[in-house]
Amino acid sequence: MQDIKDLTLKELEDRLKQFSSQKYHAKQIFSWIYKKSVFDFMALSDIPEDLRVKLKGEFSIISSKLIKLQKSSDGTQKLLLQFSDKSLIECVVIPAEGRVTGCVSTQVGCKFGCRFCASGLSGFKRNLTCAEIIEEVLYLKEKAKPLKLTHLVFMGTGEPLDNYVEVVKAIRIINSPEAFNIGARRITISTCGIIPAIQKLSEEKLQIELSVSLHAAVDSLRLKLMPINKRYPLKDLINTCKEYSEKTNRQITFEYIMIKNLNSNLENAEYLVKLLGGWKLSKVNLIPSNFIKELKIAPPNKIEVLIFKDYLVKHGVNVTLRRERGQDIDAACGQLRLAYAHK
Ligand code: SAH
Repeated sequence: MQDIKDLTLKELEDRLKQFSSQKYHAKQIFSWIYKKSVFDFMALSDIPEDLRVKLKGEFSIISSKLIKLQKSSDGTQKLLLQFSDKSLIECVVIPAEGRVTGCVSTQVGCKFGCRFCASGLSGFKRNLTCAEIIEEVLYLKEKAKPLKLTHLVFMGTGEPLDNYVEVVKAIRIINSPEAFNIGARRITISTCGIIPAIQKLSEEKLQIELSVSLHAAVDSLRLKLMPINKRYPLKDLINTCKEYSEKTNRQITFEYIMIKNLNSNLENAEYLVKLLGGWKLSKVNLIPSNFIKELKIAPPNKIEVLIFKDYLVKHGVNVTLRRERGQDIDAACGQLRLAYAHK
């Protein structure tokens, strides 16, 4: 059975025409599912009964089960969802001052094998569909209550730009006023740096935020940390990012995980300045690395982090320092994984 959340409003309108129904019902259906979280077609009281029956015969709405919910002492919640093929994925809701951010996964597992990240530890299984990504958002919205889900980051398990079509479609639905109406500027895609996909994204006319996981500012080190750097080396990546920001007039955030004894001394800060210095539409977000026990990854001490940050600021690089959330439930960056497989 087809999942109705795989359809954009336009596609649903076209389907309704095929049922010889009025196309304005599509907006009502969107509103029931995405605004009111009603998941039973027969309960859509302003839809004619014969259409409700047809919809029920053609489409499914929810296909996963919430099988585990963990709550952090800081209010972060991590959800483990299971889809009908038994695939498991995690997503996270993170309340912070004045906003609630949902962090969604885009793939079951990950192929990219970054050395510091737990998400690829069990390999790659499959892409999530648009409907499955939206289903994560429906759960996150529910768990955010009584607060409103205001921001979304594609920073869970998987590489969003390796699942391009489904992710972009999901973003359009999430963004649309008839569905979740989350502004594009409140939606962030994070990528390990897939050049052709970044180029394609610059043509989409989406005002979303783009984050690039950098983590090292010289090829020799980045290659050791991120195998993708072999295919898409730094110089090409940065040129592509500059083209992207020129075309879209959007700032790009470079994520830089600080790992003890690896990429966090002043020499590395100098490399960063060389790579990004003078480029106004760029920002570096420093993330003291989270502990991943299998990978023996640990953050540098606080003083080292501040010295590194200070060096960047003095040399004209825009920089922020990320506060990690949800570490006590392994819900922080790089900690999402198929936890069940390791227990
Ligand atoms: N594949 C995409 C989306 C995943 S985002 C990407 O690479 O950007 C996950 C974010 O968590 C990225 O910024 C990633 O670099 C970061 N991350 C991974 N492992 C981490 C760790 N051990 N500590 C802190 N951040 C980590």
